[in-house]
Parts: sequence; C-alpha cells; structure tokens
Amino acid sequence: MRILLVEDDRMIGDAIQIALKDASYAVDWVRDGSTATSVLDGNEHQAVLLDLGLPKRDGLEVLRLLRSKGNGIPVIILTARDAVEDRIRGLDLGADDYLVKPFDMNELLARLRAIIRRKGGQSSPLLTNGKVNLNPATREASRGDASHLLSSREFSLLHALMLQPGSILTRAELEERIYGWNEEVESNAVDFLIHGIRKKLGADAIRNIRGAGWMVDKS
Ligand code: CA
Repeated sequence: MRILLVEDDRMIGDAIQIALKDASYAVDWVRDGSTATSVLDGNEHQAVLLDLGLPKRDGLEVLRLLRSKGNGIPVIILTARDAVEDRIRGLDLGADDYLVKPFDMNELLARLRAIIRRKGGQSSPLLTNGKVNLNPATREASRGDASHLLSSREFSLLHALMLQPGSILTRAELEERIYGWNEEVESNAVDFLIHGIRKKLGADAIRNIRGAGWMVDKS
C-alpha cells in the first residue's frame, strides 16, 4: 500500500512520514498542490493525505481536480482547527475523511485503515480470497507454496480485482486503474496482462464474465 503525502510543513510532514513508514506503508511526499496533481495522475498510490493550505495550488483545488477526473482514490484532508468551512467544502468535494491538526499519529493510522477498508472491503495488508494471496508491499502474488513477482501493471490489475473479490470490473474500469491519463492504452492490454497473471497463478485465478468483465472469486 503506497500513500501520497501532500504537506508543505516540514515538521508535520516529517512526523507523518515517520509514522507511516513505521506502520509499513510506502510513502511519497510532495510539498505543493501542483506537483500533487501531476503525481496523482500517475495512479501509483492507494490513498492520499492532503493538507489544504499549500503553495501553487491549494488542497481543495487538488481535490476538486482529482474527482473531476474520475479518480476515486481515498483522500483524508488535513485541516486547521478553526477551518470548519474548509472541512465542509472538502467533504462536499469528495474527501473521504478529515483530521484536525494537531492530531495523534495513531488516529491518523486508524483513519487510514478505515478508509482503505471501506474502499476495498478488506483490511488486511495481505489481500487474499482463499485462492490467491497478494502482498501490495512487495508486489508478490502467491498460490499454495508458489510465489511470483508480478510486473507493475500485472500487480495493478490484480490489486484492483483483489480489493473487490466477487465484483466484476469492466475493461474500462481496469484500464482506468492501471494507466495514467496521458498514457496510450493498447486495445488488448487488459487481455495481455490477464494472460500473464494466469500463466503465473493458474487459469482460474481471474475469471472472465462474458460480456461484462473480470473478477476474482470471493473466499
Ligand atoms: Ca500547509
């Protein structure tokens, strides 16, 4: 699980980064809103911690842009104690939760676990459906005793499915989670990746629902 931290205050950012790393998250830290927007377009992260008072582009505008692009990544906004209007605006713009500064790092971690759980329906860092196990920290997928390192895009595709076992994802939904906004998507890219994953994990690791899309079984 990889987190994007958007915070221009060095002390607060340092403290959050340390807490996240201690909790085994991978963390990327950017310090202005304009960089945050470009990084988020890469779809590399699974959640965002977003300060609102930022140089170049404020956090609410980052959030508005993010949601207008159809990016549903979980977002927790970080606000000042007296900024009630900003919290309301942030939630209305599509933030999933907020924290009021100064906050306890344990509360931050608990809220992060909660939004990821709500988003994916699973709370364990090791995603499993009883057949396939996926470790988001190492991109390792295993089945039985056999462990396989997935390519970046194989991982992204399988991760998207494993966050919602039993739910069908369409070709468009899978492409949206694997590719950034400006990347060219080959028409058979999804089939190619699924073929690669099945070669490693077995043909029944991912099921094709004819005319609808793909899913992994629910345990
Ligand atoms: Ca700030």
